Amino acid sequence: MIPLNKIKLGFMPTPVGILESLSEMLGGPEIWIKRDDLTGLALGGNKTRKLEYILCDALANAADTIVTAGAVQSNHCRQTAAAAAQLGLECHLVLGGNEPENISGNLLLDRMLGAKIHWAGSNRKGEDIPEIVSQLRQQGKNPYIVPYGGSNEFGALGFASALFELDQQMDTSKLSHIVFASSSGGTQAGLMLGKALLHKSYTIHGINIDKDMSCKSKSFAQIIADLANSTSEKIQAGKRFELNDVTLDSNYVGAGYGVVGDKEIEAISMLARQEGILLDPVYTARAMGGLIDMIKTGYFSKHDRVLFWHTGGAPSLFSYARELLS
Ligand SMILES: *Cc1c(COP(=O)(O)O)cnc(C)c1O
Repeated sequence: MIPLNKIKLGFMPTPVGILESLSEMLGGPEIWIKRDDLTGLALGGNKTRKLEYILCDALANAADTIVTAGAVQSNHCRQTAAAAAQLGLECHLVLGGNEPENISGNLLLDRMLGAKIHWAGSNRKGEDIPEIVSQLRQQGKNPYIVPYGGSNEFGALGFASALFELDQQMDTSKLSHIVFASSSGGTQAGLMLGKALLHKSYTIHGINIDKDMSCKSKSFAQIIADLANSTSEKIQAGKRFELNDVTLDSNYVGAGYGVVGDKEIEAISMLARQEGILLDPVYTARAMGGLIDMIKTGYFSKHDRVLFWHTGGAPSLFSYARELLS
């Protein structure tokens, strides 16, 4: 399967099921869900799968300190802090912006999990990491950097192997699309590689949640293709991906990262009221809002079978009460 070592951080396999009420209400394809919000690591999420490979490498390198970066309400940072705590490692989080007045959601959990927080102001993508790492080295520590969003080859392998897990759980031959929120690209690159390894025909349909990602020198879709290729090389899988192998849907970025719009609010309340499932305002509600819109506008046929990959994130709901209730 995936010929690289990992450690166990979560409770896999995560559940899979049909969203009967939602499917019926929307009158379109049958909608399935993969519950990676239930990976179990300090309220769960998709970063758990990535960290199982990444932190295995950290331990192999005798790291005693983990350093990573993210947004104030980063789910990646929360899960990294929890994994570090579980492994007895010190954890430093480099968070964009300045310390908010109200400590809530993931930021509260980061603190409970014992992470040391560095406020990075406008250096939102981990630009301060080298400086912090060199300070830690001077203190005699052996720091290990987990990339933004856990999106490197190790992280992507977590999602290549997740498709093998899915294959054990349901008949994927009838599956036409897998839809999910895409942001740093590791989830999508891994799913693309897993699909190729399993010779599947379903479409890996990433919904881009962050406008900023498209104005870099390299396009986000190119970053995803490159990561899928380097991950394939890492395990000598012999798979090649081109830009047009990447289905990245940027129709739903709205007003930008973390800005809650009508589609997100509708998706959160629909999933909560129809299915008793919580989405998060930043990632999964944007992706589900996209999926709902695609169904309403006739993108899928009635005979399609679509799987929504729930990537977690609900802890940030608590920091969006004002936007959600207005
Ligand atoms: C990080 C994250 C994503 C995006 O995954 P990437 O691998 O970074 O593209 C989606 N949903 C949630 C809840 C996340 O925390």
